[in-house]
Amino acid sequence: MSTFSLCIYCGSKLGAAPGYEGAARQVGTLIGERGWQLVYGGGNAGLMGTVANATLAAGGRVIGVIPQSLMAREHGHTGLHELHVVDTMHQRKQMMAERADAFLALPGGIGTFEELFEVWTWRQLGYHDKPVGLLNVEGYYDGLLAFLDQSVAQGFVPAAQRPLLQSSTDAAELLDRLSRDARTASAPDDYRKI
Ligand code: AMP
Repeated sequence: MSTFSLCIYCGSKLGAAPGYEGAARQVGTLIGERGWQLVYGGGNAGLMGTVANATLAAGGRVIGVIPQSLMAREHGHTGLHELHVVDTMHQRKQMMAERADAFLALPGGIGTFEELFEVWTWRQLGYHDKPVGLLNVEGYYDGLLAFLDQSVAQGFVPAAQRPLLQSSTDAAELLDRLSRDARTASAPDDYRKI
């Protein structure tokens, strides 16, 4: 594998607790220090801006993908190595997925939830074979993780799918796991059914 490329989904807002921004800065710094590449939504606002700027400051390469219609609202970042301005949200999400070796969600809102669940669903359907992670900062995702366990217990989520969403409270440990698992992911992407 060439440069490891991590796609981050996170909030376009900073959230209420300072720990969220701290975690986003830590993840960006780790990406840069490890010589990895960040793929994200291309904005310069909220946690999205934090993770991008921390990656750049630590010497990492950053690729942003943003729909034209969101350039103003999400403050399209002009200091990236690549900024792809696309026509639609679907193009954005597919390009982000194609350019990544693994996916990681940080705290965020509806957009983050949608992106995380979409990429996990794509894995379930066999569109890709890349690891998917969730960083549980300050207990933000405790309720979601408990609900996911309930959905397995109630027979709606297949038990084999549940561990494919890898969660941790420790950013460095989770990044280690995602990069290790990405090395064993071998199936080529197949998004033709999207
Ligand atoms: P949020 O977590 O709501 O702050 O959004 C984080 C990012 O997800 C933003 O860049 C949104 O543009 C993006 N996003 C991706 N898909 C969607 C969607 N279907 N609806 C809303 N936002 C989305």
